[in-house]
Amino acid sequence: MGAYLCSMSKVRVRFAPSPTGGLHLGGVRTVLYNYLFAKKNGGDFIVRIEDTDQTRFVEGAEDYIFNCLKWCGMQPDESPLHGGPFAPYRQSERKALYKKYAEQLINDGFAYYAFDTPEELEKMRQDFKTAANPSPQYDGNVRMKMRNSLTLLPEEVEKLLAENTRHVIRIKMPANETISFTDMIHHEVSFDSSLVDDKVLLKADGMPTYHLAVVVDDYLMKITHAFRGEEWLSSAPVHVLLWKYLFGLENMPQWAHLPLIMGPSGKLSKRDGAKYGFPVFAMNWTDPKTNELTEGFKERGFLPEAFVNLLAVLGWNDGTEQELYSMEELVECFSMDRVHAAGAKFDFEKAKWFNQEWIKKSGVESYRLIVKEIFETKGVSINDDVYFTKVLDLVKERCTLLTDFYTQAAFFYAAPSLYDEASVKPKWDNDKKDFFKALISRYSNLAEWGGGAPENEFKNLATEKNIKIGELQMIFRIMLVGSKMGPGVFVIAETMGSAETINRIEKAINVFSQF
Ligand code: GLU
Repeated sequence: MGAYLCSMSKVRVRFAPSPTGGLHLGGVRTVLYNYLFAKKNGGDFIVRIEDTDQTRFVEGAEDYIFNCLKWCGMQPDESPLHGGPFAPYRQSERKALYKKYAEQLINDGFAYYAFDTPEELEKMRQDFKTAANPSPQYDGNVRMKMRNSLTLLPEEVEKLLAENTRHVIRIKMPANETISFTDMIHHEVSFDSSLVDDKVLLKADGMPTYHLAVVVDDYLMKITHAFRGEEWLSSAPVHVLLWKYLFGLENMPQWAHLPLIMGPSGKLSKRDGAKYGFPVFAMNWTDPKTNELTEGFKERGFLPEAFVNLLAVLGWNDGTEQELYSMEELVECFSMDRVHAAGAKFDFEKAKWFNQEWIKKSGVESYRLIVKEIFETKGVSINDDVYFTKVLDLVKERCTLLTDFYTQAAFFYAAPSLYDEASVKPKWDNDKKDFFKALISRYSNLAEWGGGAPENEFKNLATEKNIKIGELQMIFRIMLVGSKMGPGVFVIAETMGSAETINRIEKAINVFSQF
């Protein structure tokens, strides 16, 4: 990585999402690698909203992106929300700025006006269609047969422009040129310019396309490193040429095209989530047009620390066996040269393992409020936070998702209404009934409830009555919990308190006697 930094000014990276919908975990990983690289190198992390394609604009998507970044703990240094010296950071608000660059390209002979109507474009696709080339593009093979400033007389072009005839500006891709650059992950990458089409740079509505805007803004915002998904690799030759034509390649960012994230069957997609039952977005996303809800990791019960951790190691490792990293540790260890070039396979079981580890590792305090909300949505009101914290601490080893806390600990808040009859019935007899009746009176007379007292009393009574402790304990657990799950039964009893324990024993004796 050192090589990529020498003679560089301050590191500046950008995450440049288009606000078109929810944030896929691949998108969050792109943000994360940008963020880690910036923080590791004392640089700036910029969020730029690429909203020049107004037809794809989706209401609420930008707020959603910022909420996801906040949840993951990645605070931008500059963004439309946080401001900064290169504002505005929303491309639609920078519209006026791009035209002059497009015109500069025309004046220098690297771009041209194209006046073709949708019908003419369709005709071209039909006319040039062959078996070998079923979807012909607007490129070096066809451009001289179309209506553009390369084929029309200068006076005609002047006239069409003066009449405000609908037109776009296209890049004139050179023929037979090898366009090469060094990618931080893929190393030397080369493209044959003849295979790339004459991409539109400025659209009929005066908005730049992504290709022009990304280059102009990376230049104006002094971006030093551009990390993005591998799906953009095929656009890189256009961007490299634009850098060359507009800025003489001076200060072109170092590119890194991050490998795809693979799902169970090919590239991980939103549809995989629904198909295989795991979240694919960072947070819940409801499409405002269709009302379709796509589940998020947050709502599934993931801790942001775990989500960040699992994404970081999806395609990167630091060369050791270490798997658990906090954000601070990641900033410390991260380097682009240890990002793998091959696609990384997403495994939901492994993702859950990360969450489980983070639940164990984190103090209950860091997720108490989220879990409290889960309990309250289920109709359990939490009035005593000290008790709640104690309860969560007792079961946290058993939870994989934050939602598991409810399953594991709801019994602390309500006596069971159903009991594991199949386990109790074969073991329940008059001796056991007498034992528990006696236990109630022993427990009622205990001077102190805690420090192991309920357990000692229980065991002493079992010895006196000569009944096997194992069976009694199992029954006792079902009396308190309803089933065989949960932490140590005496810890449960101590935590619940003597009154609640005694109530539950009494209730259960009645129920068990009916079995
Ligand atoms: N706006 C592009 C996107 O939606 C950004 C690609 C890039 O980072 O250059 O992903």
